[in-house]
Formats: sequence, C-alpha cells, structure tokens
Amino acid sequence: MSKKSRLPRREKTATPRPPAAGRKTHGHARQQKKQAALRKWILLPAIVALVSLLLYLFRPALPRFDAGRAFRLLERQVQFGPRVPNSPAHRACGDFLTAELKRHADHVWEQNFEYRDRKNPEIRYEGRNIIASFNLQPPGDVRILLCAHWDSRPWADRDPDPEKRRLAVPGANDGASGVAVLLEIARILKQNPPPVGVDIIFFDLEDLGDHGAAANPDSLNPFCIGSQYFADSYPDYRPSYGVLLDMVGDRDLRIPREGFSQAYAPQIVERVWRAARRAGAAAFVDEQGEAVQDDHYPFLQKGIAVIDLIDFDYSAWHTTGDTPEMCSEESLDQVGRTLVELIYGE
Ligand code: ZN
Repeated sequence: MSKKSRLPRREKTATPRPPAAGRKTHGHARQQKKQAALRKWILLPAIVALVSLLLYLFRPALPRFDAGRAFRLLERQVQFGPRVPNSPAHRACGDFLTAELKRHADHVWEQNFEYRDRKNPEIRYEGRNIIASFNLQPPGDVRILLCAHWDSRPWADRDPDPEKRRLAVPGANDGASGVAVLLEIARILKQNPPPVGVDIIFFDLEDLGDHGAAANPDSLNPFCIGSQYFADSYPDYRPSYGVLLDMVGDRDLRIPREGFSQAYAPQIVERVWRAARRAGAAAFVDEQGEAVQDDHYPFLQKGIAVIDLIDFDYSAWHTTGDTPEMCSEESLDQVGRTLVELIYGE
C-alpha cells in the first residue's frame, strides 16, 4: 500500500478539532504513550519481581531433614553385622527396617522370594523386599518411588588384604547409607503429609552378584536380584518417576549424573539437580558419571524413569573398610535435603 492511497482515508476518518487543543492533545497522547510504555516495560516487571521475591521470602518452610538421626540409623544397621542374605544379622535387620517403617507409613508389606544360587544350586537365598507407602490416594494418582538396597555383600572381594576377601562387607556406605536417608524421610512423610504418593522400597539381594555375570548368566549370579524380581512381579506398578540411593554416605561425597539415568531419564536427572541447587547441595556436580548396573536398571528397561544417585568413586567399595568412619552426617544431609526439596519444594 502506498502513502498516497492511505492519506485520503485518514483525512476522512479524522475528527476535526481546534488547532490549539489539537496540539495539546497530541502532546498529551505522547505522554500517555510514554506512561503506558513505562508501565509495560518497567513497572510491570518490577511488580512481578517484587511479588516473586515476597513469595520466595514467605514460602512455607520445608520440613527439616534430621541428618543426626539419619547417621544414627546408618550406624544402627551396621551394628547388626553385615546383612548377608540368610544370616541372623540379615533377618534381624530386616525385622528392624519393617518395624521402623510401620511406625511411619500408611501401609507396609514384604515381598518374600527365593533365589537359587547359580554357582551352587544347593544354596537358596531367602530374599525380602520391604515396601512402605505414604499417601495412598494422592491427587491425580501421582506416585514417586524412593529406593535403596539393604543387603550387604557376602564377600569383600576388593579388599586390599587377600586374607580379608572372604569376609563380608560391613556395608555402611554400600547399603546402609541410602536406607538411613530413606528411614529419616519416612519420619518426615509421617509428620508432613506429602502432596504426592510416595513409595519407599528397600530391595534385597542387590549385592551378591558376580562380576562378568552378563556374559555367563547360567553359571554366575547377577546383581540387582531383588529389584529385578519386584519389577517383573508388578508390571503395572508405574510411578511417575523414581530415585535410587546407593553409596550416598561417602564423607567426600560427589554425585555426578549417572550414565543410564542421564541416557534414559534426563528430565528426572535435571529435576533432581534443580532440587539439589535449591537445597544448596554442592555434592551434586554437573558432570557425566559412569553407567552403573544398579537397582534402577530393571525399571528403566520397562520404561519407568528411575534415576540412580551414586558416588561410585569410593575407596572402601567392596572392602572390609566400608565402615561408618568412611561416611558423614553432612553427606547424608545433602541427599536428604535434596529429597525434601523434591517432595515438598516444587
Ligand atoms: Zn555393592
């Protein structure tokens, strides 16, 4: 459209006004325009920022994670002795965990199963997955899964001292740390009803696997037997997402983005790392970590987004030195506060 063709139309629609008043109105309109722009570009964002700040400052305080209690629960598990399947320590600790969860959860049950050793078919392990549910009818049926393995490895096969390699692993970090954090989370869930449904599962028989079992499945035992059994038993159990804790007690805690989690559930990794930032948990680092065959893997294979929080860089891994002295309250605190942010802070 040319300028010429537009001009007559403008004259036609223009309302005649006295020249002086017209000029004044013109100036006034410009001022109004300026004020509108001021409102739009300065005032409005300022108001939004102020409201956000106020909402942030006056947001309801999140429940406090008691890291001291969590650490005592780690020590308590280790005091039973290594929780090696079929041992008295395993039975006693399993009873303790179930009783502890029953004090807090809306529903607790055990999935008992048997596993026949592939190297020695005369050995049958009595497996015991422990399941606790909180908020049985959440809005929209949204449930999240929080899990850890509670058994201890029967052999410290990476111990620097060959004499000790036939002894069991105390499992302070490898087993007890994740369970300890979740037992404290259970107490918080009882006292602060969560906005979503939460299932805490302690998996059994995670750690009696043989390295190289994938290549020799008939003669060697795999890792993650309990979680695989659970995932196979309940194909209809589909939480929105899940978080696995394994070896989260290392006093030099450093959690990179575990490989399988990042590959198959990057959106959940991002969500948890955001929660960690809000919690000020510096142990969560923005680095790609190793891919670890762990209890999240059977779920990922079924399309359920369960991620693994694991610090695999642990000098006492699968040694008799995996004791509470290698762990710290501060490390449990960072992971616990991140979970609290994840459950209550979104
Ligand atoms: Zn292990």
